[in-house]
Amino acid sequence: MNGRLHTSEGITLAQKALELMSTHDIAPTPQNYSVWIAYASDSIPELCEALQKQIDRGGPIDEEFCDELYDRFFTFRRIQDAVLDTGGAMSRELGAVVKTLEAAERDTAAYGEALAGASGQLDKATDAATFKKMVEGLVQATARMQRRSRDLEKRLQETTHEVDQLRHNLEKVREEAMTDALTGVANRKRFDEAMRKARRAAELQGEDFSLILCDIDHFKRFNDTWGHQTGDQIIRFVAACLCRFSKDYHVVSRYGGEEFGVVLPGTDLDEARTIAEKVRSTVESKRLLRKSTNEDLGHITVSLGVSEYHTGESIESLIERCDTNLYKSKQSGRNRITVDADTPGAEGGVAAA
Ligand code: GH3
Ligand code: MG
Ligand code: MG
Repeated sequence: MNGRLHTSEGITLAQKALELMSTHDIAPTPQNYSVWIAYASDSIPELCEALQKQIDRGGPIDEEFCDELYDRFFTFRRIQDAVLDTGGAMSRELGAVVKTLEAAERDTAAYGEALAGASGQLDKATDAATFKKMVEGLVQATARMQRRSRDLEKRLQETTHEVDQLRHNLEKVREEAMTDALTGVANRKRFDEAMRKARRAAELQGEDFSLILCDIDHFKRFNDTWGHQTGDQIIRFVAACLCRFSKDYHVVSRYGGEEFGVVLPGTDLDEARTIAEKVRSTVESKRLLRKSTNEDLGHITVSLGVSEYHTGESIESLIERCDTNLYKSKQSGRNRITVDADTPGAEGGVAAA
């Protein structure tokens, strides 16, 4: 927000934001609140414009749309700010180094002149006193040069350290921008990046490449019964199950609100099917307890789609095929996996090829 708000003004805006969120049935998460308070207070004109356009054209104002706005106007902004900060700090560091180098250059030139002068006067130094004075002058000039070299070395070491630190900070921000805050798994951006990378490896090196899409069954009902926070706990639990059965070179990502995508480079359809089935059966078998009260929440289930990349196809086409498989799992009763060329199997089962 531009400038500081008076308390009463802040409360009015907060109320307006919460009312708008409630009207559009948006969950009151901190992330969503950031988006809607920005809209209510008109503090980010581009965000207001994008949101207003969507409202005017009657497009969906849902979690996905809010995620998109958050990504675009908050995550991206943070990266931009970090890059600008880092760029500024680096250029200040380099400016200081250049100044030190210029001073060293001046001292080197002066030292050269002192040496040249001394060598020119050497044959004129007929008496011991003149000779001693000359030598003393040279010793002093040499000491100054040594000091300057040490300063320069120290300054360069400091700069190297500072630049390493800045690079590290930037990497941290990049990592954060690629991570889903709720679950700690990759976010949609990293998913897209991993898909492009896996496709390239499949095309260039003929590597296997599979994809799993996973969606929690009847999650809206679960949320409505137990509340959004407990719903979040379930999203984290499913993310953890997906991570548990994936290899470290697989990329588990939160693809949307309660949907996950696992990018599996170097993995054929059979192996992907095995992982998907382990996730399905583990989620189903776990009795869930509410963290805060230990209340029994019963069980939840997930539906999954599994597809393998076909040489030459686009990423969109692979996602579409996998999404169709996921849809088939839902249509045929949920709590199951559907693999390419499968017909959906019985409840709790893996579809037969
Ligand atoms: P289906 O079995 O067909 O998938 O039914 P569903 O109810 O799971 O499907 P739907 O996509 O209609 O509902 C998804 C719900 O997920 C709606 C939304 O409130 C909820 N949701 C989306 N993101 C979050 C989140 O970050 N936290 C919580 N707790 N709920 C979320
Ligand atoms: Mg869904
Ligand atoms: Mg669902």
